Amino acid sequence: MSLEELVERVAGEIVRARWPVALTGAGVSTESGIPDFRGPQGLWRKYDPNEFTYSSFMEDPARYWRRHMEIFAGLSGVKPNPSHYALARLEELGRLKCLITQNVDGLHQRAGSRNVVEFHGSLSQAKCLRCGSLYPMEEVEARVRAGEIPPKCGCGGILKPNVVFFEEPIPFEALSRAQAEALRCDLMLVAGTSASVYPAAELPYLAKFGRSPLYFPGLEPVVKDRPAVIVEVNLNPTQLTDTIADYSLLGKTGEILPKIVERVEGLLKG
Ligand SMILES: [Zn+2]
Repeated sequence: MSLEELVERVAGEIVRARWPVALTGAGVSTESGIPDFRGPQGLWRKYDPNEFTYSSFMEDPARYWRRHMEIFAGLSGVKPNPSHYALARLEELGRLKCLITQNVDGLHQRAGSRNVVEFHGSLSQAKCLRCGSLYPMEEVEARVRAGEIPPKCGCGGILKPNVVFFEEPIPFEALSRAQAEALRCDLMLVAGTSASVYPAAELPYLAKFGRSPLYFPGLEPVVKDRPAVIVEVNLNPTQLTDTIADYSLLGKTGEILPKIVERVEGLLKG
């Protein structure tokens, strides 16, 4: 099927869906100039992932914050790209009920998406490890730049970026919401992610089969009215491509998502 035909079919599916949701990953942000973690140009080629574990942070928060400034401090100048705007528009059209993202850059919200589940937290805030207060990251980075290393809360607690570090669990609320949306949806648009890292990797399976591919003895699958349609938009084929994806649109998300949304608008106008 040509890309045009795929776009047409997927737009039709999105218009007909009762509860369409999206799952996004690093691929939607690379076009904004944000490096991914695992790719060939990824951060883990340059930095040791062991520096980004929770225990490493706790051992030496000052060391973490110096690294943070080196890697992430430029990100506040980064802007959403057509992928983010297309998904925000889809929500505005009433054709996207929830957006689950593995990204921590906050670009979906800056593009206008409202119902966003941030699976791995957000780099746009720092959180006090003692009292839980949240601070805007820009303010915290300014304090670090001025020599406050590590930055601290008014209560004296150390501030940590409000993102999930290695060794840390996915925040309970984000995980529950994401799983509930996956079980509820009848269409899942998986964009810019190979969906290979747990627990995000199980969401397309929850959407399609009502159960995780992990085996939990005695746990019956949730019975779904019908399996969700799985639409994949990604630069390269993934493990979903030949398995559970009903449609795989291969190419830049920043080019394909706007095409889909344009056709959705066309169909909605009838
Ligand atoms: Zn505090």
